[in-house]
Amino acid sequence: MLDTIREKWPEILNNLKQEYDITDVSFKTWLLPLEVRAVEEDTIILVVPEETVGLQYIKKKYSTPLRVCIAEAIGQTFELEFVLPDQADSFESQPHADISEDIDIFTKAGLNPKYTFSSFVVGGNSNLAHAAALAVAESPGEIYNPLYIYGGVGLGKTHLMQAAAHYILTHNSNMNVLYVTCEQFTNEIINAIRNGGPLANVEFREKYRNIDVLIIDDIEFISGKETSQEELFHTFNTLYDNKKQIIISSDKHPKEIDNLEERLCSRFLWGLSVDLQSPNYETRVAILKKKIELDPNIPDIPDDIISFIAANVSSNIRELEGALTSIVAYSKLTNLPITLEFAKDILHDITQSAQNEVTPDSIIRIVSEHFGISVNALISKKKNQEIVYPRQLCMYLCRKLTDVALTIIGKKLGNRDHTTVIYGYEKIQREIEENDKVKNDVDILMKKIIPG
Ligand code: ADP
Ligand code: MG
Repeated sequence: MLDTIREKWPEILNNLKQEYDITDVSFKTWLLPLEVRAVEEDTIILVVPEETVGLQYIKKKYSTPLRVCIAEAIGQTFELEFVLPDQADSFESQPHADISEDIDIFTKAGLNPKYTFSSFVVGGNSNLAHAAALAVAESPGEIYNPLYIYGGVGLGKTHLMQAAAHYILTHNSNMNVLYVTCEQFTNEIINAIRNGGPLANVEFREKYRNIDVLIIDDIEFISGKETSQEELFHTFNTLYDNKKQIIISSDKHPKEIDNLEERLCSRFLWGLSVDLQSPNYETRVAILKKKIELDPNIPDIPDDIISFIAANVSSNIRELEGALTSIVAYSKLTNLPITLEFAKDILHDITQSAQNEVTPDSIIRIVSEHFGISVNALISKKKNQEIVYPRQLCMYLCRKLTDVALTIIGKKLGNRDHTTVIYGYEKIQREIEENDKVKNDVDILMKKIIPG
């Protein structure tokens, strides 16, 4: 019995966390450290590792939920006894796997705990995509394979894909589920190649071809990357042939992704492709209400203010949430209550600055995010190509999209001379003509910098 309980312990804790809505910090502090030491008749002996105030507290607060979840998982009820390590010595200790390692299967799969179906609001803009994601989550590998979700930025692609992953793992914790961004995926390929030899490649393949559910976010990033496309092609075939689920997202329909191999494009369309649209007013209100309900840091907010935000922020859901959190943050900062007037003021500031012309700072930030490198690296003295190229893109985009003087652009980019900026600008200018990848990078970045 001890073995069974230990084996199911991760699942028990995860269910407990979900069913009782336990925050990450409480979970890590009180529950994760518990060790299943022994089972004596119908009592489970749990060791509370440190001599903290914890023991009594855990006993009081978590005994009942734990017993319920244990009974659910094992099919039998147990009493619980909490002991300190020195008392635990009287119980025979048996070696066991390190549970803290496989406990957080969700984190291991690359998931954000917030992105679940229960926090996703379904509206006319998303009901098809939602239904498809749920169907795939219920029967991975069996119906829509691959599932391809596309739509503009901030409309819930990542949320929906991760919700499917959460669902799958919650119902079958043994499944090997992996969420990666396309950037991570291509970086791993580059590293495998760079770090030498066939062995690294083998490792990469072993990892990606032994997955039950592979989720790749923002696949448009693979545009023009030939080696990555080749590798993805083989990964895709292996998984597909083994009836493993593939879920892909993108800001575009496969046919609209430039420099995407035809064979990949057609495979992306083998299953089902669904799009996410912008939410309408009612859905925006519902999303705000959901967010207020779920986020303990957000106080209750009167309906007229919610309506006001929903009416005025319509571009995408990320901005909608951003507006709400800004209003709350400013109110905390200034100690002013959230009134309609207050919300109007803040929103006015936000929309102003959002519409403000593009600045070198915003360009640098977007380029750094796009390439997954830090702003510090971008403006550093580093001269390796992975940094120089994005830096030159910044120079190009700053000159092209802003009226800011070259000397200032140079300063912003790590105190460089204006002639360096001109050089960078001209280099990219030339390469756009000759190199599709550069052209493509510039196109994507322009869209990110000037959305819509
Ligand atoms: P995308 O990947 O399409 O750019 P995200 O999935 O990152 O968008 O969503 C942006 C933000 O909006 C996230 O915080 C997400 O939780 C939230 N969001 C998006 N769609 C919904 C929805 N239908 N209901 C609730 N929250 C949503
Ligand atoms: Mg996303």
